[in-house]
Amino acid sequence: MDPQRSPLLEVKGNIELKRPLIKAPSQLPLSGSRLKRRPDQMEDGLEPEKKRTRGLGATTKITTSHPRVPSLTTVPQTQGQTTAQKVSKKTGPRCSTAIATGLKNQKPVPAVPVQKSGRGKKPSKRPAWDLKGQLCDLNAELKRCRERTQTLDQENQQLQDQLRDAQQQVKALGTERTTLEGHLAKVQAQAEQGQQELKNLRACVLELEERLSTQEGLVQELQKKQVELQEERRGLMSQLEEKERRLQTSEAALSSSQAEVASLQQETVAQAALLTEREERLHGLEMERRRLHNQLQELKGNIRVFCRVRPVLPGEPTPPPGLLLFPSGPGGPSDPPTRLSLSRSDERRGTLSGAPAPPTRHDFSFDRVFPPGSGQDEVFEEIAMLVQSALDGYPVCIFAYGQTGSGKTFTVEGGPGGDPQLEGLIPRALRHLFSVAQELSGQGWTYSFVASYVEIYNETVRDLLATGTRKGQGGECEIRRAGPGSEELTVTNARYVPVSCEKEVDALLHLARQNRAVARTAQNERSSRSHSVFQLQISGEHSSRGLQCGAPLSLVDLAGSERLDPGLALGPGERERLRETQAINSSLSTLGLVIMALSNKESHVPYRNSKLTYLLQNSLGGSAKMLMFVNISPLEENVSESLNSLRFASKVNQCVIGTAQANRK
Ligand code: ADP
Ligand code: MG
Repeated sequence: MDPQRSPLLEVKGNIELKRPLIKAPSQLPLSGSRLKRRPDQMEDGLEPEKKRTRGLGATTKITTSHPRVPSLTTVPQTQGQTTAQKVSKKTGPRCSTAIATGLKNQKPVPAVPVQKSGRGKKPSKRPAWDLKGQLCDLNAELKRCRERTQTLDQENQQLQDQLRDAQQQVKALGTERTTLEGHLAKVQAQAEQGQQELKNLRACVLELEERLSTQEGLVQELQKKQVELQEERRGLMSQLEEKERRLQTSEAALSSSQAEVASLQQETVAQAALLTEREERLHGLEMERRRLHNQLQELKGNIRVFCRVRPVLPGEPTPPPGLLLFPSGPGGPSDPPTRLSLSRSDERRGTLSGAPAPPTRHDFSFDRVFPPGSGQDEVFEEIAMLVQSALDGYPVCIFAYGQTGSGKTFTVEGGPGGDPQLEGLIPRALRHLFSVAQELSGQGWTYSFVASYVEIYNETVRDLLATGTRKGQGGECEIRRAGPGSEELTVTNARYVPVSCEKEVDALLHLARQNRAVARTAQNERSSRSHSVFQLQISGEHSSRGLQCGAPLSLVDLAGSERLDPGLALGPGERERLRETQAINSSLSTLGLVIMALSNKESHVPYRNSKLTYLLQNSLGGSAKMLMFVNISPLEENVSESLNSLRFASKVNQCVIGTAQANRK
């Protein structure tokens, strides 16, 4: 089958193919032809009697479905016959429709020729008497009738055969019709299916058209984009070319740089070797510096005493001239002052003449004397090198000794108002340590600092860095060894705060001031009746060389050294004051005794005699460096206390503690 051909066309083709079957010559004889009479037969029946009889018989037998012809006229060839013949010629003997029509329209054919009426030749009538003749006629007639009957029977037989054939043909045609109807139904179903398909295809076509229009829109959009992209591509290509050009230039530069790098690397290797050598030398120099620095400090004395006289404050009486004098050193006024003369007129002593005795002059000599005009920076400059010893592993302890109001707190912590010019030893020392540690980090040293700040009042220890609910409370701290067999001491319940910058130190000093202020409301001027001990534990490490060093730096603002006036009446307040004073005096004299014992290298050092010396024992030992500030009031009314302080300081100044040993591991 041709694939291009539709099912409908195929069916049509089949029908065309079947048509010849229908047109094929039929075997069914046509009644018209069969009913034709030969002329002799026709002539045969021209006798009137016979014609009549025969015509009657034939009419009775054949024309059953048609009205009888009123007069039996001779119709040699009827219209039906003619039509049948014509049809036969036109459609062929086997055309079923033509046959059906022919049979239906066929008029009865007279079996015998009809007797001509009226005007024709009439048969001669035998006379009545001629019986014999009549009989003869009748016999002849009978004979003819018989023959006719025989003929008719034959015709009848033929007609029945024809009928049977026709019926068979009808049956065959019915079957054919059923087949064709089946075909037709199939064709119709196929046509319907085709139409359905056509419908679907149309829908598909519509959908495809729609999609096509969408796609066309997209295509247009894409074309637009393509144009844009081409434009962009052109731009990028030009950029690429530019970059390639630059790359080539860079590559050229790179290759020259690589050559340079190679030579530099060689140089670096040489430099690294040199650097290692220099580092080695530098380390050697650093260790030498430490040794020399220590020697210098030792030459200056492991116990040094500085005297500082505070200025007269606004509102205070001007002291008489010559009360305190600062004689120049051997090098003249350009030398830093180291001497101080205090003149006291003793009213009890009189001359024989009754005139007032001349004032007694007391001369003192210290490692350094700071007259009232000396600034905080000047004071610190003098101790900066000492503080640095703590980084090298030597314990350093700095005290401020003197009566209340002589300037101890001013010297150790600083003046009021947060003025940087008035900053005391603690903030300055820590700033100095942080900056030197930073410098030493370049040589591989790493330092860490942990601060604590406690107050010792009436032999009880209180944390000045306490926060929260513990703020302002006292008497709950104890001095203990850090562990069994350990030399290190710690204060229980006290905060040890790691510090690494000035801000953190400022915050701690602020907190300590707040804690003191809270205590002051509870007990009047307690701060001047207690020792404040600021301690910084310094730990240094040179990991690549496996070196470690550590030492405490202690800055102590001692309690007022003034004594109670023995002449005062002892009320309950005074008794308490006396107890306080005795505790202070005891701890201060213990401090003096400890220093003496250390100086005299005695086997027993009475550290345990006071909380202060017990806490500071690691900062006072053989390897420690000690500095005592003796703070002096410039006022005349304080001359007696000033003299006491100067005497105490002088004793300390005479002490020499054995050669200090760095705490190195
Ligand atoms: P202390 O602690 O010995 O009792 P302070 O340090 O409290 O004495 O000093 C008493 C007062 O004198 C404070 O008002 C302080 O500011 C002031 N003062 C102390 N020394 C100096 C100084 N060198 N320059 C200026 N003022 C000072
Ligand atoms: Mg004070």
